[in-house]
Amino acid sequence: MTTMKLHNTKTRRKEVFEPLDKDNVRMYVCGPTVYDRAHLGNARPVVVFDVLYRLLRHVYGPEHVTYVRNFTDVDDKINARAAESGRSISEITAETTQWFLDDMAALGALEPSIRNDPDHQKAMPRATQYIPQMVAMIEGLIAKGHAYEAEGHVLFAVDSWREHYGKLSGRSVDDMIAGARVEVAPYKRNPMDFVLWKPSSDDLPGWDSPWGRGRPGWHIECSAMAHELLGESFDIHGGGNDLMFPHHENEIAQSCCAHPEGEFARYWLHNEMLQVEGKKMSKSLGNFFTVRDLLDQGIPGEVIRFVFLSTHYRKPMDWTAEKARDAEKTLRKLRQIAEGSERWSDGAERYHEPFDDVVAALCDDLNTHLAIKRLQEHADNLESSDDASRLLVTLDLLGISSNWKDVEHLYAEHLQEKKEKIEALIVRMQDARALKDWRTADAIKAALVDSGIELKISKDGVEYDLGWDFDSSKLEALK
Ligand code: AMP
Ligand code: ZN
Repeated sequence: MTTMKLHNTKTRRKEVFEPLDKDNVRMYVCGPTVYDRAHLGNARPVVVFDVLYRLLRHVYGPEHVTYVRNFTDVDDKINARAAESGRSISEITAETTQWFLDDMAALGALEPSIRNDPDHQKAMPRATQYIPQMVAMIEGLIAKGHAYEAEGHVLFAVDSWREHYGKLSGRSVDDMIAGARVEVAPYKRNPMDFVLWKPSSDDLPGWDSPWGRGRPGWHIECSAMAHELLGESFDIHGGGNDLMFPHHENEIAQSCCAHPEGEFARYWLHNEMLQVEGKKMSKSLGNFFTVRDLLDQGIPGEVIRFVFLSTHYRKPMDWTAEKARDAEKTLRKLRQIAEGSERWSDGAERYHEPFDDVVAALCDDLNTHLAIKRLQEHADNLESSDDASRLLVTLDLLGISSNWKDVEHLYAEHLQEKKEKIEALIVRMQDARALKDWRTADAIKAALVDSGIELKISKDGVEYDLGWDFDSSKLEALK
């Protein structure tokens, strides 16, 4: 069987991956809080762990992999969004959940699934559906002396697990206390104690519990759902490295104290951040754009995916217009070759394996950068119909071939609409120039350039090119 190596945050080393059960390899990835469109940064873990999911399915067989990713649908940010918009919480979470699924599907991400269970809902658990499991886990933690009730809250007692707490992120409790800038609630025994349960006023979502009507803290949801769906010990836990502390540290503390007979997650994988000018893209910094913004500008999801694949997941990356343009060019070429290959291989790809060296690159801690480089070399040097079939299978392994035709079609339509608008404006600009109406001609030219079009005007006519950041709304002002 192919050997996979993965960088485990827990040991800070690249390790040979050995699942507990080859017939049921289990992975949990922290999913989104559903109150708004996913920004491009949120899409990075989705694509990274989709590549891992596809690779695991290739190595162990699709029916031997379980992948669970949650939706956080109880959170103060959701409550705030409902209050400010006057809409109900369930309406907001249902709408945002669907947006997320649609946007991630456009990036070629497969939906998580549970082995032998076709019900995708279960593989994408909503926190609000697992409140009884969270309450039971909290009760168990109190009974074992790892948690305590104070003023309607239940808190995890970090001192009850002091030697272990902070291991994943490499911090000691004392360092954490020294570095903490949060206001410390008077009822906490230790400033690092974190909330498992908190009281809800009548206007907020709440569930009855032994500690009164309330709602869960954020961390307990992943521990409870991972336990319910994957068991006390499972193979891989993933998420962005911004979640390492406190979220993942707290998940470990809760799960290991509630179920000391298990190990919780054995391999921890963290993707680095998508950045904007050196800073993490985030809602709170306001330096974000959404996946949907890019799709609406006519950038195919595959281009976004390909740009992500070009950087290793443990390196920070920037999204740039240049990268998108390069990816688009490469994909256009690959698409042509793949279409030729489809005719050549005549449906034989079902019986073929992907290129070994591409699989080897992926098995080396998901080296997608090298994998797509090797893929392109193969595409440039196809020698037989077998090669052609293998190319198609390899594209599928990387998730860059599904629904190609749909994407291409959508993109072409989008582009056609844009082109008609631009060409009509160019005709008007040229007419104005012929009449020496320089004011009109200059105004049209300025609007075209401002909207992101590169113009080349010569005595032979006008040529133009669309930048990926082309914004057709900027042309609307021209009457
Ligand atoms: P959130 O909804 O903020 O909890 O984030 C959902 C997922 O997106 C988590 O796995 C985060 O680690 C990840 N994430 C958030 N911002 C970024 C970013 N700028 N780059 C990469 N991943 C991110
Ligand atoms: Zn989580």
